[in-house]
Amino acid sequence: MAQQYNPYENVCTIVTNTAKMLGYTQNDYEPILHPERELKVSVPVMMDNGEVKVFEGYRVQHSTSRGPAKGGIRYHHNVDLNEVKALAAWMTFKCALVNIPYGGGKGGVVCNPDELSENELRSLTRRFTAMIAPIIGPDTDIPAPDVGTNAQVMSWIMDTYSMLKGHCVPGIVTGKPIPVGGALGRGEATGRGVMLTICNTLKNLGIPKEQASVAVQGMGNVGGVTAKLCAQEGMKVIAVSDVSGGVYAPEGLDIASIRFYLSERGRLLKDYQEDGVQHITNEELLELPCDVLVPAALENQINASNADRIQARIIVEGANGPTTLEADDLLNQKGIVVVPDILANAGGVIVSYFEWVQNIQSVSWSEEHVNEQLKEILDNAFNALWALSHEKRVPLRTGAYLIAVKRVIEAKKLRGIWP
Ligand code: NAD
Repeated sequence: MAQQYNPYENVCTIVTNTAKMLGYTQNDYEPILHPERELKVSVPVMMDNGEVKVFEGYRVQHSTSRGPAKGGIRYHHNVDLNEVKALAAWMTFKCALVNIPYGGGKGGVVCNPDELSENELRSLTRRFTAMIAPIIGPDTDIPAPDVGTNAQVMSWIMDTYSMLKGHCVPGIVTGKPIPVGGALGRGEATGRGVMLTICNTLKNLGIPKEQASVAVQGMGNVGGVTAKLCAQEGMKVIAVSDVSGGVYAPEGLDIASIRFYLSERGRLLKDYQEDGVQHITNEELLELPCDVLVPAALENQINASNADRIQARIIVEGANGPTTLEADDLLNQKGIVVVPDILANAGGVIVSYFEWVQNIQSVSWSEEHVNEQLKEILDNAFNALWALSHEKRVPLRTGAYLIAVKRVIEAKKLRGIWP
């Protein structure tokens, strides 16, 4: 089932339905059903054992109608072109929804970064960067971290691109370490945005956050920070998981202790031991009774096969595309409030935008200023979406696409078709 799932088809369905609801003609929306550019590259790497291995990589620019393409680079063994196309399109609509001046792009390399040495990872990153260099640039397409990549990988991308250009180009990539032009607050921005979205949703539903229980799937950059900040806000984080499985404590987990345990490379939650903590599977985590469920790992986690067993009152999508369209319908019928990915995890790209603005202007903002600006943009986007969804009596995902698709099509129409 997972292999047949094509997330790009889901994107096209939702965009087509939304454009029709908005009264657009096929001439208006047809262009945004097709990514502007798709580049496939072969990336040879000299492995530590002297063997040359060739990895497959992609960079897709879905849209540049509202600004340069923007989106992360994923290192994962399941990366394929349809996944990268979907991830690129979600970036287009995410940037439009929160109204930052970017289009959408995404990249990926089919590999398992956990099995590569640091030397192999650096060689892979440098060669991949060189292969996609003809189409990326601070004014054209700006990569960032995603699953399996991090600030160190962004630093190697920045260095490689700068060496090719012959001068330092910090604005080529965001999510960099602070000493090479990274933004204060970027490391935690996506998780902070998820936490702020959870707080906004609880507030609007009249649920005190101190009484809210939260389950988080994925303990990486997004899930780990979400769990930490939710616990700091007084919520009870009852379950978290990684690729190896989850841990559960109905009275609440010690998130600081779990994050400290996971901070050593190679450690997995299946080996975490603590009094009162039970081990559960990822499937069981998704089906726990809780107020807020945060899928923050990969796509297609909540699908037609498990949606009817979801017991959460609210789902806040930390990951991109964790819920299939079929599952979304079932969740809506059950009255579960689903806050869509293109709003819930937009904190990352918002602070990436702040990083890029600082890089191209050679200025630096305080972390306090970054966090304030992030909250302002997210609160405004959340309030506009909540109001529209209630006015139109549509689920939040439909409302989000009504806003985003309109902005992208209007930009495209204003620019016209060249030549
Ligand atoms: P990451 O690589 O830092 O962490 C991924 C986490 O998911 C890890 O804990 C991993 O063990 C776990 N995981 C992997 N496969 C799993 C599986 N099959 N079942 C359960 N858990 C699994 O990645 P990340 O940057 O935290 O990204 C997570 C999601 O958030 C992705 O969908 C990504 O596209 C999205 N996202 C990331 C950012 C960002 O800034 N990093 C921004 C927006 C959206």
